[in-house]
This record gives sequence, C-alpha cells and structure tokens, in this order.
Amino acid sequence: MQGTNEVLRVEPMMQHIVPIVLGPPGAGKGTQCKRLSEALQVPHISTGDLLREHIRKGTSLGAKVKRTIERGNLVPDSLIWEMLQERIGRSDCRQGFVLDGFPRTASQAERFDAYLAQHKSARHSLLPLVVRLAVDNSVLLRRLTGRRVCPKCASVFHIEFGAPQVPGHCDHDGAELFIRDDDREATIRERLRVYEREISPILQHYGNDGRILEIAGDRPVEQVTEEILEAMGHVAV
Ligand code: ADP
Ligand code: AMP
Repeated sequence: MQGTNEVLRVEPMMQHIVPIVLGPPGAGKGTQCKRLSEALQVPHISTGDLLREHIRKGTSLGAKVKRTIERGNLVPDSLIWEMLQERIGRSDCRQGFVLDGFPRTASQAERFDAYLAQHKSARHSLLPLVVRLAVDNSVLLRRLTGRRVCPKCASVFHIEFGAPQVPGHCDHDGAELFIRDDDREATIRERLRVYEREISPILQHYGNDGRILEIAGDRPVEQVTEEILEAMGHVAV
C-alpha cells in the first residue's frame, strides 16, 4: 500500500539568538554591533541610527525627536517602538538581528518580549541575549569627543583610536564625517546620567532569565568582538 512507509518528517525548531548590546554611550555598541552583524550575517539595527536618519531626511518623526536627542534625553517609548517594530518586521530580520541602543527602558524591554512571544511559532523563535559592555567614564568621554560618523553609511571612526585613512572622510564611501550633535561634553554628561538611571531596571528585567553576558569593553575592538562571539557560543539555545 502506498503511503504506509512514509517517514514522518519533524522539522527542527529554529532558534536564533538576538544579541542586545547594552552599555553607556561610547562603550562601543555601534562598533561591536556592526562586527557582530557581519560575523552572524544578520542586520544591525540601531535605534539611534534610525532616528538620526529621520532627522537627516526631515521626516515628521525626525522633527519630533531632534531636540530631545540634542539634549541627551530619551525619545518616548511609543515613538521608538513604532519605528523599531516597522524595521524588525521586515523579511531580512526573520533569521535574527543585532540590537544596538534598544531597549533603553524596562517598558521597551517588555514591548520587545511581547513582540517576540507574538511572533514565535512551533518552528521558529528569536531569543534575546543581553551583551553588556562595561567601560569607565573617563574613557567614555575621550571616545565620544573623538567620535566621527559617516552620514551615508553610519560607519564610526575615532580621531585617535580608529582614524579614517583620509582624515575627515569615510573609508567606505568618501563622505565627509560629522560630529554628532549629542557628542558635546554637557550632553554626554546628561546621557551618562540617563544611562545610570535606566540600566538597573533593564538588567533586572533580563537578569531573571540569567541571559546577560558581561564583557569588558575597554580593550582593542577585535578582542572585544572575539570575546562576545566566544561567550555567545557557550549559551545554550
Ligand atoms: P556607542 O555606540 O556605544 O556609543 P561607538 O561604537 O560609537 O559607541 O564607539 C564610540 C567611539 O569609540 C567611536 O569613535 C569608536 O571608534 C571608538 N571605539 C569603539 N570601540 C573602541 C575600542 N574598543 N577601543 C577604542 N576606541 C573604541
Ligand atoms: P545612540 O545612537 O544609541 O547613542 O542614541 C542617540 C540618542 O537617540 C539617545 O541619546 C536618545 O536620545 C535617542 N535614542 C536612541 N535609542 C533610543 C531608545 N531605544 N529609546 C529612547 N531614546 C533613544
């Protein structure tokens, strides 16, 4: 009889780790996320980059958030979530993505959890894993005041620690690098204050599942990436 010997094929459950890279401004989140995105072959999603793109393009969201960002404060959760949900809902994020600068509040973390639960299926799920970069404040200040960013591809350079080949121009597309409006000393101090205030509730949120990797960020870029990838390799999915 036909069909009686058919092998029952059980599709394996695909679980993709979503690294959530947290750390104070200047810790190296953008730098590491770009490298992780290349290593893991998934998109790098930075809420800061998405917001700066809105500002540059002059969208209504850009107009709403410009002053808040210049002052070093956080953009309201609802605006961030609307913008992020649209981005991670695209097909290139199905196999995972690397999150940079999100979540910044416990409420953002809760929204993200709810989203992941809603999009989980019997065959496919995304698992958040926090990577926390620690760097001393004195180092952060030096990193941020020397940071230079490409307006075209968002690549990040540093005048001392990662200088472009041609001073002031992006190595990838030659565009003129700019200094972020919020990389001025007074704003940096406010951003550090905001970070200190918001980080504990977020860590509490994720700490309950024991899914936090603590990484020392004050070492050469390549070494930090290696350590993150190595630590991720030890996480059971
Ligand atoms: P964040 O996204 O956390 O604000 P960035 O990745 O933009 O931080 O890094 C801040 C600045 O420090 C950039 O100019 C970057 O080139 C530089 N930087 C990043 N990682 C390191 C590192 N490990 N050592 C020295 N400089 C670094
Ligand atoms: P970043 O590029 O991550 O340093 O972010 C730059 C600025 O954008 C922050 O200081 C905030 O004003 C805003 N921002 C970026 N991500 C978020 C977020 N998840 N929640 C609230 N504000 C954000």
